[in-house]
Amino acid sequence: MTVFDDRYPGVADLNPALLQALREAAIDAADDGVEFYVNSGWRSPEYQDQLLSEAVAEYGSESEAARWVATADTSPHVSGDAIDIGHSDAIAWLSEHGARYGLCQIYRNEPWHYELRPEATDHRCSRMYADPTQDPRMQQRPGPLADPGPPRGLPSVHFGAPSERPQGTQRWPEH
Ligand SMILES: [Zn+2]
Repeated sequence: MTVFDDRYPGVADLNPALLQALREAAIDAADDGVEFYVNSGWRSPEYQDQLLSEAVAEYGSESEAARWVATADTSPHVSGDAIDIGHSDAIAWLSEHGARYGLCQIYRNEPWHYELRPEATDHRCSRMYADPTQDPRMQQRPGPLADPGPPRGLPSVHFGAPSERPQGTQRWPEH
């Protein structure tokens, strides 16, 4: 689906200001022959819980899973404030032009994840967090979250576009 497909809750239930910025950017990107696809936009708390319990099953503990998948309470997708964009040409376009629309990449390890930062239209996007564990919004629970380091099986260097994700059970961050 694209950012114009508002029959889908994943698009329609995004924060209206974010959606507006995305649509303005998408119209300009279309002039460059680039189309924005929505890999994941708004998520219901139930769906986020499901992603989290899948990650708990995979990583073996809630604390480890929380480093890779946000809870329903902390995910900016659940609040409608985040979008995961595809494909790689759209990601490249946004990385170059997004700030003009207030659209900023937040995490270095999630080049597809964008949020609205209205102040960026006057300046630039703020420095990115290396990954979600450094985002204060994700640190509502004390404990093992402070211990960095990628889990087994998750690449720590190569972060391609979602369409370049390796096949198999490998899990990518779902914040
Ligand atoms: Zn995301």
